[in-house]
Amino acid sequence: MSVNFMRNKILVTGGAGYIGSHTCIALHEAGYDMVVYDNLSNSSREAINRVSTLIGQNIEFVEGDIRDIEALRQVFSSHQFFGVIHFAGLKAVGESVAKPLLYYNNNVIGTIDLLEVMAEYDVKNLVFSSSATVYGDPENLPIDENSPRSCTNPYGQSKLTVEHILEDLVTSDSSWNLIPLRYFNPVGAHSSGQIGEDPNDIPNNLMPYISQVAVGKLEKLSIFGNDYPTIDGTGVRDFIHVTDLAQGHVSALNYLERRTSSTNPSDMKKSVGFLPINLGTGKGTSVLELVNAFTEVTGRDIPYQFTDRRAGDIASCYASADKAKVLLGWQAKLSVNDMCKDTWYWQSMNPSGYKVS
Ligand code: NAD
Ligand code: UDP
Repeated sequence: MSVNFMRNKILVTGGAGYIGSHTCIALHEAGYDMVVYDNLSNSSREAINRVSTLIGQNIEFVEGDIRDIEALRQVFSSHQFFGVIHFAGLKAVGESVAKPLLYYNNNVIGTIDLLEVMAEYDVKNLVFSSSATVYGDPENLPIDENSPRSCTNPYGQSKLTVEHILEDLVTSDSSWNLIPLRYFNPVGAHSSGQIGEDPNDIPNNLMPYISQVAVGKLEKLSIFGNDYPTIDGTGVRDFIHVTDLAQGHVSALNYLERRTSSTNPSDMKKSVGFLPINLGTGKGTSVLELVNAFTEVTGRDIPYQFTDRRAGDIASCYASADKAKVLLGWQAKLSVNDMCKDTWYWQSMNPSGYKVS
């Protein structure tokens, strides 16, 4: 098989998914080339088709599972990757409680398989999708990267376990460069309205739920708790536009490239090690504030009722985004109104998501 060498070629696992598809666009715009590897367990080929149309170029797509070591080897032997952005994973907290073995198998064992193949091919640069969920119920706000970590559900545990594995890997071999990006609450969609979040079944997350109420697929929103110690009693989160989040991945790769390829001795060339970075806006928005912003921006009324708190939810969670700014030169640019506008554009253009309605 011929090896196709490009300095800036990236393997994107889970690249057909919500965040991965947006990141493919950002990578292309930044001059990276990519191969998407996804088993389509929570996504559709149509997302890749649409990304290809948007960037005016066919994305190389391999349908495969990260636990299929032979299939991964084939991909690594056909391309010379600079690094991997690893989105592939299952992400539903409730499902993880019901099916813990599935989650540990997919998210933890799958990541170990990927890391083993990366090591075999000497590809040691990784950007990993971690989550603010690793902070559990935070002691202090805003949450910085040195905050204690703890998780209460198998999904969160799978992310935290992978972080521990990455730390151990760096301890064993300092030539690894590993950046877990801890996402806060990604929402929104590409401004073209062509790609966005397409949950199976009834959404668990707030923004897709709101947009499905707005489009008439769901009757009313249940707001889980109005007795939290917050500005209006509802939960507070750090919502971040998926386009900003995607850009954060490009900034992380740029950082890895700078740190690993510098020929200037004064650049302190040394490996990055294990470098966790928050991707959030640094601002908290309450559930009610988001509902009101959505109505203001779209003109759509969102009927809601207050119900009991959801088990496992915390009152408030928002990031300190300073480390990303200082190290990566990245900060979120888009507002809560942009998040609502773009979510609604995607939802109204695609009421059935990627499925033909
Ligand atoms: P998503 O489900 O849309 O994308 C994940 C992709 O991974 C899907 O396309 C799925 O088909 C693929 N996949 C899953 N298991 C796989 C496997 N074994 N082999 C190959 N492909 C596999 O989810 P997303 O929202 O885009 O999230 C991407 C990553 O970010 C996930 O790891 C998720 O846990 C993490 N994350 C997401 C959020 C969020 O709110 N969306 C927050 C924090 C972290
Ligand atoms: N939420 C809600 N109703 C819903 C979904 C979520 O009130 O149908 C609230 C939830 O209690 C939390 C916030 O919205 O305070 C964000 O929840 P989401 O599931 O989107 O993300 P999480 O922060 O839990 O990962």
